[in-house]
Amino acid sequence: MKIALIAHDHRKQSLINFITAYKPIFQQHELFATGTTGKRIMDEVGLEVKRLQSGPLGGDQQIGAKIAEDDLDLVVFFRDPLTAQPHEPDVTALLRLCDVYRIPVATNEATAEIIIRGLNSGWLEWRTIKESVGIYNE
Ligand code: PGA
Repeated sequence: MKIALIAHDHRKQSLINFITAYKPIFQQHELFATGTTGKRIMDEVGLEVKRLQSGPLGGDQQIGAKIAEDDLDLVVFFRDPLTAQPHEPDVTALLRLCDVYRIPVATNEATAEIIIRGLNSGWLEWRTIKESVGIYNE
């Protein structure tokens, strides 16, 4: 599966801790991340990550574009609910696209844990058959 990883500054350490805890699962998948988040994952967790632009410089939009192109299966986005972000419209747009394309998205550890455990149990295998069931055609 293709997984996008993003964390706002005050949430980056929590995301690093989370990915470290579930490294055996994450290392089985293809990882993408916004610039600074991705660098920390590579340096501190030791996982290979395809880095996009930093969030405020367009990284969230790049991830949104991948969702629109059906090129991502899951988003883990530890956003900061207590700090105003200069790129708040990009954050909103990314979360909106997750809903448009029915992409699982976790914005905190509690949800991420359920989704990652579900991923490891095969609960996201429907992503590989989505075209045959036509989930986009309502
Ligand atoms: P960053 O971007 O990983 O480059 O810090 C995340 C964000 O702020 O959206």
